[in-house]
Amino acid sequence: MSNRNHTHTLSSGFCNATGFTCHLLISILLLATALVSCNNEESDDDPRPFIVTTTNLIRDAVENVGGDDVRTTSIMGPGVDPHVYRATPRDFQQMERSDLVLYNGLFLEGRLSEILDRLGDQSRAVTGSIPRNRLIEASDYGGTYDPHVWFDAQLWMYVIDDVSQALSTLLPEKSETFAERAESYKRELEELHLYATQRIQQIPEERRILITAHDAFQYFGRAYHIEVRGLQGLSTATEFGIQDVSRMVSLIIERGIPAIFIETGVSTRAIDSVIAGVRERGYTVQMGGSLYSDSMGARGTPEGTYAGMFRHNVETIVRALSEELQ
Ligand SMILES: [Zn+2]
Repeated sequence: MSNRNHTHTLSSGFCNATGFTCHLLISILLLATALVSCNNEESDDDPRPFIVTTTNLIRDAVENVGGDDVRTTSIMGPGVDPHVYRATPRDFQQMERSDLVLYNGLFLEGRLSEILDRLGDQSRAVTGSIPRNRLIEASDYGGTYDPHVWFDAQLWMYVIDDVSQALSTLLPEKSETFAERAESYKRELEELHLYATQRIQQIPEERRILITAHDAFQYFGRAYHIEVRGLQGLSTATEFGIQDVSRMVSLIIERGIPAIFIETGVSTRAIDSVIAGVRERGYTVQMGGSLYSDSMGARGTPEGTYAGMFRHNVETIVRALSEELQ
């Protein structure tokens, strides 16, 4: 498991500039790397494979399958927006020291794609096993498919298998253990799927509509039978317009929708404009609460795991849209 030769690959990929500028950039990168190295968070003496993930959702998958047999860290923490995230010198250093980098793919990490490509075999997308016909096509934002697959717990089960395979390649002697953990965790995900299906059904049918700022919940909508409308498109990098807002305001008034939702890590500006627009026309719509969209909560909180985050979202949606708040 050699991971000593990646500095050059990353540094040369890091800048396409010529001569002096390039040397300067590399020097800055190396200096930053040296500074980060003083922080002895991951010990080089630890023989276990070191897995770096992009989102904390993928880190959670690695922890569930890898247990204590691997070390793992995610470069994006709670509330970080993966669509616009750029790698820091510390991220470069982590990726360079890792045995494997696991990322979502499907263009979720839009601004990291070049770096991830350059890592070659040292990086792997965890969405590769999902049958293409179960992906939602979305050609209007840079990728081919909607990347927000984690909101269908059954699709996340494919990710668990992918992670299990990736870890088995690194540590073949543990492959049985990884497969067992994957199977047991997938049973939990199946239960989570059933719970979400039943819970969403409790929302009166005419109110079963989820309105948020960015379009992260298409898989959720398809899997759990709730209509989904996003103001902003799939990526948070796209802007919403006045027309989008007024269309949404009309929809809310016509259908008598009681609540709309903000998302952690996404600006509340779009949702605030909709609430103000509804009020201007003499109606009211509540802020239904905050949903996790592209990251989980902080470690040590109930929402700091995939399952906890998922349940939080389901409960927030059901409570705000059903009779329970009225
Ligand atoms: Zn997103």
